[in-house]
Amino acid sequence: MKIRVDRSKCISAADCIAVAPGTFELDEEGIAIIKDPHGDTDAIIEEAARSCPTLAIIIEDDNGNQIYPEPTSKPSNPGAASAKGIQTTQATKPV
Ligand code: SF4
Repeated sequence: MKIRVDRSKCISAADCIAVAPGTFELDEEGIAIIKDPHGDTDAIIEEAARSCPTLAIIIEDDNGNQIYPEPTSKPSNPGAASAKGIQTTQATKPV
């Protein structure tokens, strides 16, 4: 399972951190980042994604298929995500 945070959607509500404190934290800009992709169970991480009021947390399976939010349609242009300003956080702890 892969987790991403769309920084352009995050409003610093911190619901994700309340649900999955082992996985998410806020960075110095108050935007959610992934501090440990295995910090909570997959079920808890999915619950955290569902708790996000702006759908800023994106979950993909190991094959890169988006699980949440449920995709309504696939973008025809694979580069469309970056054109929309979607940024991802590193799924590793800073050293
Ligand atoms: S719940 Fe959503 S909006 Fe709130 S901090 Fe987490 S990612 Fe950002």
